[in-house]
Amino acid sequence: MTTSAPDRALTRAQLTDDLQAVAVTPQDPFYRDHAPTFFRGGAPAIILQARHAEHVRSAVLLAAKHPDLPFSIRSGGHGVSGRSTNHGGIVLDLAAMNDIALPDPGTGVVRVEPGAQWLDVARALQPHGLGISSGDYGGVGVGGLATAGGAGWLVREHGLTIDRVRAVEMVLADGSSVRADAITLPDLFWAVRGAGSNFGVVTAFEIAASPVSAVGYAQFVLAADDAAQLLVDWGTALESAPRQVTSSLILGPTPPGQPVVAQVNTVVHSEQPEEIRELLAPFASAGQLVQQSAQVVPYSHVIDNVYPGPHRGVGEPHARAAVVRHITPDLARGFAELLANGEAHYFQIRALGGAVADVPAEATAYAHRDANFLPGALGRSRDGMNREWDRLRPNFDGLYPSFETDDRPDRLAEAFPPATLARLRGLKRSYDPHNVFRDNFNIDPAGVDESEHTS
Ligand SMILES: Cc1cc2nc3c(=O)[nH]c(=O)nc-3n(C[C@H](O)[C@H](O)[C@H](O)COP(=O)(O)OP(=O)(O)OC[C@H]3O[C@@H](n4cnc5c(N)ncnc54)[C@H](O)[C@@H]3O)c2cc1C
Repeated sequence: MTTSAPDRALTRAQLTDDLQAVAVTPQDPFYRDHAPTFFRGGAPAIILQARHAEHVRSAVLLAAKHPDLPFSIRSGGHGVSGRSTNHGGIVLDLAAMNDIALPDPGTGVVRVEPGAQWLDVARALQPHGLGISSGDYGGVGVGGLATAGGAGWLVREHGLTIDRVRAVEMVLADGSSVRADAITLPDLFWAVRGAGSNFGVVTAFEIAASPVSAVGYAQFVLAADDAAQLLVDWGTALESAPRQVTSSLILGPTPPGQPVVAQVNTVVHSEQPEEIRELLAPFASAGQLVQQSAQVVPYSHVIDNVYPGPHRGVGEPHARAAVVRHITPDLARGFAELLANGEAHYFQIRALGGAVADVPAEATAYAHRDANFLPGALGRSRDGMNREWDRLRPNFDGLYPSFETDDRPDRLAEAFPPATLARLRGLKRSYDPHNVFRDNFNIDPAGVDESEHTS
C-alpha cells in the first residue's frame, strides 16, 4: 500500500552484491522512469530490477529482513488494487523477466515470465494460430493479471486467464523456489489462481493457449439517453449470445449540450463476415446506433492499444468494482444515477459468464463463477465513490479485486466467500506467516474469519 516514507531509509550499501547490480535508487539517472506505475506516483528507496529467480529470492529475503518497509511486487505496473510502487520501501520490478517460450506443439502450453505484456504474448502466439484470453489492454503485465483472474476478450469462450494456467514457478516468503500445479503443492496452486499476490512471487507461468483465429471486432456508439434501459438491453443481448461473443459497455458523464452516448465494443471469435454480422446484430440494436465500425482483425489487434514509454503515474485511482449475475432494472438505474450525479467519470461493464461458470467455485481462489458481468467505475474522490458504491452494494454478488482500490476490511469478504477466505487465511499462515506479501488485497495471517469465531 502507498504510505508516507518510513524514517529509516534503506540504502544501496545494505544490499547483497547481486542486488546492488540490479538496484535503482533515487540518486540514479532514470529513477524517475521506474518509480511510478501506470496510475501511481511513488518514491521507493530501492527498485530491484530482477533478471532471474535468484534475484527474486534475494529481494524477498531482503524484504523479509525489513518488515517495517513497504514491499511492492511489480510485473507490468498496471495494478489498480495492487500497489506496485510505494514511498520509502522496496519495489521488486520483474519487467526484465519477460521471456515468452515457444508453445508446446502437442499441448499448446506456453511458459511465460511475469514481466511480459499481454500484447507481446498475443503477438508471439499468433503465428502458431494460438491465443490466451487476458484482458482488454495489451500493456497489462502477465504477473498481476494471471495471479488474480483475467477477464479478457475471449473470456466467455475460454474462461478466465487463471483457468488456463497449468503450473507456476514461485519464490515463497522464506526464499525457497517451488513449482506448483494440480499434483505438486495443489493447495498453493489453488490459492495462486485468484489470490496469488498474497503467497509469493510468480517467476513463470505455464499457460495452455487455445486455437484462436482472426476475430470480428466491432465498436458501436449507441444513444444512451435512457442509460438504464440500454444497460438492461445490452445485458440481455450478452446473456443470450453464444460463448464466442464477448462485449463491454462504457459510459461517461456527458458534457453540457452533447448527446448522451455509450461505447459498446464487441469481439466475435469468427472469421466469417456473415456470422459476425448476425452475432453483432443484437448489440447494434440495443439502442439507437450513432456510429459503427466492424473489422475482421488478428486477435492481437484488439489489445494493441498500449501507451508508449515509461509509466508516468496518471493519478491515484478511486476505482470500485463488483460482479453481478444479471443486470436488473434496479441495478441499471443505480449505475445511471452514478453517472448522472457526476461522481464517476468512467464506467465500464465487462463480460464474464460462459466458460467461467464451467469451473466449480471451489476449484480456484476466484470463486464467483456464476457472475455474468464485471462492472467497475473510476470516480472523483474516495469518499464520494465509497458513498455511491455502498448505495449500490445490495445489488452486487461479489467483487473482482483487480479493479478495486477501496481497502476497507469488508472488501476482502466480498472478494472471497467465507469458505474460500478461511482456506486462504489458513494457507497464508503456513506459506507467509510474517505477511511479507501484502501489497494487494492482503489476507493478514493474524486476521480472524467468521468460521473461527463460531467454531
Ligand atoms: C488500463 C487497464 C486495463 C485493464 N484491463 C483489464 C481487463 O480487461 N481484464 C482484467 O482482468 N484486468 C484488467 N486490468 C486489471 C489488471 O489485470 C490488474 O491491475 C493487474 O494487477 C495488472 O497487472 P500488472 O502486472 O500490469 O500490474 P502490477 O502493477 O505490476 O502488479 C499489480 C499487483 O499484482 C501483484 N503481482 C504482480 N506481479 C506478480 C507476480 N509475478 N507474482 C505475484 N504477484 C504479482 C502484486 O500484488 C502487484 O501489486 C486492467 C488494468 C488497467 C490499468
